[in-house]
Amino acid sequence: MAKINDNYLKLPGSYLFSTIAKKVAAYAEANPDKKDEIIRLGIGDVTRPLTPTIIAAMHKAVDEMADEATFRGYAPDLGYEFLRKAIADNDYKARGCEVEADEIFVSDGAKCDSGNIQEIFGTDNKIAVCDPVYPVYVDTNVMAGRAGTYDEKTGTWSDVIYMPCTAENGFAPELPEEKPDLIYLCFPNNPTGATITKDALQKWVDYANSNSCVIIYDAAYEAYISEDNVPHSIYECEGARKCAIELRSFSKNAGFTGVRLGFTVIPKDLTVEGTRLHALWARRHGTKYNGAPYIIQRAGEAVYSESGKAEIRGLVGYYMKNAAYILNGLKDAGFEVSGGVNAPYIWLKAPDGMSSWDFFDYLLNKVQIVGTPGSGFGPSGETYFRLTAFGSYENTVRAVDRLKGL
Ligand SMILES: *Cc1c(COP(=O)(O)O)cnc(C)c1O
Repeated sequence: MAKINDNYLKLPGSYLFSTIAKKVAAYAEANPDKKDEIIRLGIGDVTRPLTPTIIAAMHKAVDEMADEATFRGYAPDLGYEFLRKAIADNDYKARGCEVEADEIFVSDGAKCDSGNIQEIFGTDNKIAVCDPVYPVYVDTNVMAGRAGTYDEKTGTWSDVIYMPCTAENGFAPELPEEKPDLIYLCFPNNPTGATITKDALQKWVDYANSNSCVIIYDAAYEAYISEDNVPHSIYECEGARKCAIELRSFSKNAGFTGVRLGFTVIPKDLTVEGTRLHALWARRHGTKYNGAPYIIQRAGEAVYSESGKAEIRGLVGYYMKNAAYILNGLKDAGFEVSGGVNAPYIWLKAPDGMSSWDFFDYLLNKVQIVGTPGSGFGPSGETYFRLTAFGSYENTVRAVDRLKGL
């Protein structure tokens, strides 16, 4: 008799984005005159097109696929050498980090990697996550049976250690009292837009090394860092090669959300119970994955060319101009806001003690602006609200003007 993985049944419905979509659709239907006024600043997806250097590299690779002499079949499971080398040189060696090309595993994105990486750890590992949190880390551990039971009232799992990120601690977690085995960190952070200083991250690396923990470090927003004392990679910290896995993505810097490309770094020095995690992930990749497409890996390589880098700076600059506009506009309007300096997310406190969802309804009804309720990312997100800088500049300006007029 077939049986299901009943861990899936423990998952509460993914209400957040479907509830948002339903509420917006209902509002548009009830208010046809306001329908075209709705501005969506809730999405975590880019809106600018791919840049010319990347498009040219993709076209060229497409043509190579049409010619017997240059056609490519299966890609190497772990990624083409040209891309792994470009990553190692530009993202790591240029920043003084010791990461070799053969420690990089190319993939189709950081969402998959952040969800799949837990497979190489035993089901009795205890995970620690920031609260609020990118839901993928928790839900994939629930699916694997690592999270215990869900408490509807508190919105938490019995076997997960939550590390509150609040205004009091500057939205950076404190070292947990209870010892975890796996620690998920994401900086610059989605959803809060907060980041961590190099000294603070060093404390996490030291803690992980002293307690035999592994840190899974999601650096998907690395390209948005604008301040000096913010680490671009966890490997800037001493000892990180012994305790940290780093995840990166081409989605948010180069606009590859629909193209799909990312990578995971597992240093060969990282061992758990005497086994190299590098070997386990290589085995997992080799067994379950056939590599990102050649055309897309060439597009990724082009991101590291001189013109590619300049164009990517332009893209990030476009969104960060929006972020600054939102941040400053909301500050002027008297809101309590943070983020938006090293990340394309602005995290604001709902005024007058409103809940996240009350504020969502209020903004939709009053000024036709759609954002994301902070409570959807975890209990410590309650009374907060996320706006993104991924819209067009024109819409961002219109939205901020409306918010100022509230
Ligand atoms: C967008 C995002 C990613 C990247 O996901 P891809 O699968 O590479 O598109 C990873 N982590 C976080 C926290 C994100 O917000």
